[in-house]
Amino acid sequence: MAKPRLKIIPLGGLGEIGKNMVVMEYENDIIIIDAGLMFPEEEMLGIDLVIPDISYLLERREKIRGIVITHGHEDHIGALPYLLPQLKAPVYSTKLTQGLISVKLKERKALSEAVLNVIPPNGQFTLGKFRVEFFPVCHSIPDSVGLIIYTPIGIMVHSGDFKLDYTPVSGKPTDLSRLAQLGAQGVLLLLSDSTYAELPGYTPSERVVGETLDHIMADAPGRVIVTTFSSLISRIQQVIDSAAKYQRRVFIVGHSMSNTTRMALELGYLNAPDGILARLDELKGMPHNKVVFITTGSQGEPTSALVRMANRDHRQVHILRGDTIVISATPIPGNEGLINRTLDNLFKQGAQVLYSKVAQVHVHGHGSQEELKLLLNLAKPKFFVPIHGEYRHLSLHAKLAQSVGVPADNTFVLEDGDVLEIGPEASKITGKIPSGNVYVDGLSVGDIGSVVIRNRRMLSKDGIVVVIIAVNRQSGKLVGRPDIVSRGFVDTRESKDMLDESRDLVARILDHSGARPAEWSFINTKVRDTLNKFYYEQTKRRPMILPFMVKV
Ligand SMILES: [Zn+2]
Ligand SMILES: [Zn+2]
Repeated sequence: MAKPRLKIIPLGGLGEIGKNMVVMEYENDIIIIDAGLMFPEEEMLGIDLVIPDISYLLERREKIRGIVITHGHEDHIGALPYLLPQLKAPVYSTKLTQGLISVKLKERKALSEAVLNVIPPNGQFTLGKFRVEFFPVCHSIPDSVGLIIYTPIGIMVHSGDFKLDYTPVSGKPTDLSRLAQLGAQGVLLLLSDSTYAELPGYTPSERVVGETLDHIMADAPGRVIVTTFSSLISRIQQVIDSAAKYQRRVFIVGHSMSNTTRMALELGYLNAPDGILARLDELKGMPHNKVVFITTGSQGEPTSALVRMANRDHRQVHILRGDTIVISATPIPGNEGLINRTLDNLFKQGAQVLYSKVAQVHVHGHGSQEELKLLLNLAKPKFFVPIHGEYRHLSLHAKLAQSVGVPADNTFVLEDGDVLEIGPEASKITGKIPSGNVYVDGLSVGDIGSVVIRNRRMLSKDGIVVVIIAVNRQSGKLVGRPDIVSRGFVDTRESKDMLDESRDLVARILDHSGARPAEWSFINTKVRDTLNKFYYEQTKRRPMILPFMVKV
């Protein structure tokens, strides 16, 4: 009888940045690692968020022993409010991560049913046949961990997101000695963060940003407005520390930024000297060079406080000439357009804007090539799977692994949905399961298919034409000429003749077809085909055509 094998199935984060999720399955036990979201690309019109497709998991719900979360960033916890009510599995994370998950679940009213277990950064717990041990890693958020997973066939290591900062602002440096011990014991599989596998050398320490912030706080003639992710707690700490040094008071602006900082203060992951945090109603009359704002909007999100300020649409804070604005984050790919628009609007209002292209106001939280190699050298895995990254990141990371001695046959560049079966001696890709994007649009989850997005793209490009066809209720005969209403297609005054001609065309084909109302589907197709062809000949555009029947 064949020995049971361990399956590794990435459901998100491989071949893309975001919506990280890896499934580990052994006989009757499944554990899920991370449940992240991805921000939509610009062509996904009207979509707020993207989360992993979990249909594979829903079919095996009784096997799921738990969801293990490595840290509190959106691309690792953001899908939980949508997926947890379906999966109904207990969640395991460190304390700060649990705090951030609670904030998210509360916003979506999914907190009361959730089972959230807090595990210390070097704690252990058992989930079915898996024993999971956390080990601290350094990342841009405190309380980040990697995972050591003891399975019946060997030890697996999941790096989480990590870098090797020896002087982190908050949180612990990556526990290299634990990894070295494991390497000596024998690691069967390493899954490791590939986000910055393109960059040679080492990622600079967070301290560098602290120094830049100090200069800015000291030299800025007026107010300083720092924008970053609300989950970048160590960055918020650096801003508070730096403001304190130069006797500036700190105003936290915006919903998610306020919720997160309050939670982090309560749990002790943020420290603010007495009297440094201020309420917005204290702002009036305060000298400008004594003021710092911390807010969201580093990605140009339309509803964020910074974008509102940039568009003169924020109720309490307006941009003033002499303000210094610090964008302390790197653009997530796909957001560049929104971010650049925001930068332009801020410059227009006379603010000085500092962002990572012009000043060292941000370092990212992922290891560069030398750090990735060091981890590989310590863990000495038999098999290697690069995770967290687009295809080129994963490929480059696989090459790095080979350069430090992992055989090419033992490195697997997987894509979402690939099933990798790990055995003690050999591993191979044995299948593919459904995976992909589930779109979240406002309040609805998952019922937005790619057809909807294609339609939206079409509407935004070439507009819409509605054809109103009136027929007699009794005889089913056409009444008068069809009406045509268009939006976003052509200038209706300039193109009046062309549109008129298309009305005649529809009238003619309806007469010829001799179709009765019962054959509406036939009329529908006929009208669409005819107009599609006609409009394309006339305008080289393909508007969406919607025939509409009214009985009179
Ligand atoms: Zn992260
Ligand atoms: Zn991440």
